[in-house]
Amino acid sequence: MVNAHSYTYMQESACTPTTDIEGYVPFPDDRCQEYVEDGYWRNLTFHDVLDRVADDAPERTAVVGPHRELSYAELVENSRGLATYLAEEAGLERNDFVVFQLPNSSEFLEAFFACSRIGVIPVMLLPRHREAEARHVLELTEAKAVFAAGDRYRTGFDHVSLLDDVRDDFDDLTHSFAIVDDEETLPDGWTSFDAARDGELASDPSVDLDEIEVNPCNPGVLLLSGGTTGMPKGIPRTYNDYVFQWEYMAEVSGIESDWVAFPSVPIGHNASLNCVIGAAIWAGATIAVEPVLKPDALMSLIERHGGNYSLPIPTQLIDILEHPDLEEYDLSSLEVLVSGGQKVRPKAVYEFVDRWDIGFCNIFGMAEGPLICTRPADDVDVQAHTVGTPIAPHADEVRIVDESREKEVPQGDAGELSVRGPGFFTGYLRHEEENEENFDEDGWFYTEDVLALNEDGNYEVYGRLKDTIIRGGENIYAPGLEDEIIEHEKVENVAVIGIPDDRLGERVGAYVELVDGYDDLTVEEMGSFLEDQGIAVFKRPERIEVVEELPRTEVGKISKTDLRDDIVDKLENE
Ligand code: AMP
Repeated sequence: MVNAHSYTYMQESACTPTTDIEGYVPFPDDRCQEYVEDGYWRNLTFHDVLDRVADDAPERTAVVGPHRELSYAELVENSRGLATYLAEEAGLERNDFVVFQLPNSSEFLEAFFACSRIGVIPVMLLPRHREAEARHVLELTEAKAVFAAGDRYRTGFDHVSLLDDVRDDFDDLTHSFAIVDDEETLPDGWTSFDAARDGELASDPSVDLDEIEVNPCNPGVLLLSGGTTGMPKGIPRTYNDYVFQWEYMAEVSGIESDWVAFPSVPIGHNASLNCVIGAAIWAGATIAVEPVLKPDALMSLIERHGGNYSLPIPTQLIDILEHPDLEEYDLSSLEVLVSGGQKVRPKAVYEFVDRWDIGFCNIFGMAEGPLICTRPADDVDVQAHTVGTPIAPHADEVRIVDESREKEVPQGDAGELSVRGPGFFTGYLRHEEENEENFDEDGWFYTEDVLALNEDGNYEVYGRLKDTIIRGGENIYAPGLEDEIIEHEKVENVAVIGIPDDRLGERVGAYVELVDGYDDLTVEEMGSFLEDQGIAVFKRPERIEVVEELPRTEVGKISKTDLRDDIVDKLENE
């Protein structure tokens, strides 16, 4: 068994950011120096990590998908072929941005590692993003190229048309690549992904990839912030800080080189790219990809490939547990599941652990960096009710601070999570205002998430600062209240929000999806149910809106922004 941990690393004594990307905030030189000296930063790019596994185990399967299977050696070769084309034919250079809007596929990995080889920064537009986000991201990054899935991956939406419709409005955007089986389906001006990767250039290049020096202190990927608050913000992650987290996620999850890891959410989301893909490549494991992320498709994947490890969001856990054909799937290969992104229902943790005897990592995660999670060997009560500890407890600097952001709160009290360290970003791209607001001069990032460190030393999540409803001076954490409301027999799913109120500031409102067979739920019914549970009067919802389906963000989290807009509209019309 080969594990990347066993490599001896060339530890260069220093690493200095050398990018001149306008509006990018680099790591300060002294911190770069410190992280390298402390051994946290390995000075490896993404493709360095891949190449090392390929050197050791060229024949091992790196990626297996519905259409293809690639060994580590083939993934290296293909990413080199594409990198050569991108450098030579498309003229892409270090620190250029290119936008990916790709499904979970082997091609994503080929393109991702191709970009790393030439220091080009892929931007993680997600399949569920639409024209407004595409335009915003193209403008923000001045991207030179786009990658989209064409007829090979018919997932119900035509991303090539979406990007084709907007591309003429962006002068910098000169190259467009589509993954197609039938080249006839390519719109004018588009290049076939396969042709670029496998073309003549790959065998007779004038660009020598090995001559291109990629600085691991520079950004290697641009993640996008979740769509819960307007347009996504760009989150640059350097090779060093991202690879640092790959290593620690691999260690925390215990992923082995003979495991099969599979992304359950879009591959360009940090949950997949960092915690699943990164950890798997670090460990030299196999990645199974499936472009359709519905529960039955994922369960088939687990059965077909013997899936051992993934990070589904909590809604997907529930969808699997409640799936009518669950008994027909063999999920016994599961070893470790990580879940988070929103509050995980304790019941789901107990059920997964009990049924499949898995290690459960309940995770608090942000694309900006923080990864705090329980460990597979923790007690199930810890896994069900807390998010454990930071993935790199000795390196990650983590504080819980009060409203002034200057003082830490006493252990046990809830406050805002603030972080700094070798695995956290240093600022949003071209977003000075946001950076001024959420970073202090010592480089601490204030997350706007409310957590507490409990007496056993594990973190518990209370919700976003904005998810705290302040009713007449009383603080109510929405996720905690949602846990209570969901216990009502009529409630299938719930989202609690603050309803603006002239007198009290806010009142508590609940949007609910009802269990099949019920069609109403009154404030009185819920009030008396919560009274029986001993929930304080001020926390009980004063308005309940029954909906068919709660609105979702592009990764499937409940979108409270949409609900807040909805209630404001309703109030205006009343
Ligand atoms: P994203 O921008 O998609 O990376 O989402 C990050 C946000 O998801 C965090 O800032 C939190 O508000 C939320 N989040 C992540 N993990 C959890 C969790 N375990 N429980 C509650 N909220 C979470």
